[in-house]
Amino acid sequence: MSMIDEVIAKVREKDKDQPEFIQAVTEVLETLRPTEEKYPELVKARIYERIVEPDRVVMFRVTWEDDNGEIHVNRGYRVQYNNAIGPYKGGLRFHPTVNLSVIKFLGFEQIFKNALTTLPMGGGKGGADFDPKGKSDREVMRFCYAFMSELFRHIGPDTDVPAGDIGVGAREIGYMYGYYKKIVNEHTGVLTGKGLDYGGSLIRPEATGYGVVYFTANMLGSHGKDMAGKVVAISGSGNVAQYAVEKSLHMGAKPITMSDSNGTIVDEEGITAEKLQYVMWLKNVKRGRIAEYLDKYPNAKYYAGKSVWDVIRDENLKIDIALPCATQNEIHKDHAEALVKAGVIAVAEGANMPSDLEAIKVYLENGILYGPAKAANAGGVATSGLEMTQNSMRLQWTREEVDAKLQQIMKNIHDTAYKTAMEFGQPDNYLLGANIAGFMKVARAMLAYGVM
Ligand code: NDP
Repeated sequence: MSMIDEVIAKVREKDKDQPEFIQAVTEVLETLRPTEEKYPELVKARIYERIVEPDRVVMFRVTWEDDNGEIHVNRGYRVQYNNAIGPYKGGLRFHPTVNLSVIKFLGFEQIFKNALTTLPMGGGKGGADFDPKGKSDREVMRFCYAFMSELFRHIGPDTDVPAGDIGVGAREIGYMYGYYKKIVNEHTGVLTGKGLDYGGSLIRPEATGYGVVYFTANMLGSHGKDMAGKVVAISGSGNVAQYAVEKSLHMGAKPITMSDSNGTIVDEEGITAEKLQYVMWLKNVKRGRIAEYLDKYPNAKYYAGKSVWDVIRDENLKIDIALPCATQNEIHKDHAEALVKAGVIAVAEGANMPSDLEAIKVYLENGILYGPAKAANAGGVATSGLEMTQNSMRLQWTREEVDAKLQQIMKNIHDTAYKTAMEFGQPDNYLLGANIAGFMKVARAMLAYGVM
């Protein structure tokens, strides 16, 4: 039995109650097979087995009081996965579906993503099974304070630097950072995604969505194509989706879909900059639902209870580019087959693990250019890395400077994945290229440290 088969079998046995984690480990390790033969020293040092085991997992109680004086208890997590190449770095997710399996899958993927950015950042992830939806600002504030009242003892600017993710945006980062600053009595770069007035970086809010589109443009460019005039399907209507729509527009493409967990809107006339402004107000200020898009733009259609990918499958929409930007496992085999039928030439993942293993197989077999999450959405964490640099230097770069660095990083990630895939005899397999390139950097560092 190869070491990779052995490790996958062990994870399936030991963590059998963690389906998302097993899925992520399988996806990564399956593509690392060529490294087993090429680098026997990695097998001897059992790097494959060591890398799937987190450095540590912290789980804690979060007790808070709602506006009616009722007491609630949630479960908080921080998985510090691997700090071989830098301090742990990765977002915090507040969503009712958060559990250990979800946080471990995200933390595991984060190791390779962060390595690909070329910045010195290890992998980590955290969050809580708390749902900010429907809560007042004061309730969210009390929850964030309670969450940070435990998390603060595990993080630090050279130890672990969390950021936002689903359900954790500017408001939540503000409350958590304020509380950290108060109890530790330090104004330091311990969280990223901070507001501009207190240490944040320009372009950080835009970075993940912009980065996905930059990555897509690079994939298309290396195949003699571009974004201009392309019809784009985007899922989600949160941070990543909003800025993926914006950058698609900058590049002359036509985004036509957005969604949330209740349903999907399709606007065949195109979601213009003006319409996007309305969505941003609707989602970020009013905290409403995407269905309300039709209140202002009644020519669009709303499909209750359906994802973007269900709608493409059921309504036979014609699409050139798909950018899933909502959540994990949105796209299954039947959806991927529908994307092939719809004429899709590229899929780039804004969300983490939005395509399941069967869907990825369909993309690769049908010659769809597939930008996996750890490459395509690395712009967010890369810009978080740039925020850390600015905090350490105690200065702030301009919007143009940060955007230029982001574009260069996305190009480097693309080129690294592209060349690595070529080197290992699988041209255009960006998944294999990204996984091997990210893994090798971390593996080399782990080897250098000896047996620990
Ligand atoms: P937001 O909370 O801003 O938005 C999430 C969006 O996805 C919302 O529209 C939400 O709908 C929808 N969504 C969430 N869960 C589900 C679900 N179970 N089913 C259907 N729709 C769902 O989060 P982000 O935009 O920050 O994150 C989106 C994805 O991008 C995540 O996978 C995240 O891990 C990934 N990502 C984010 C980065 C960042 O910088 N923010 C960096 C890299 C990756 P609703 O409003 O109904 O909940």
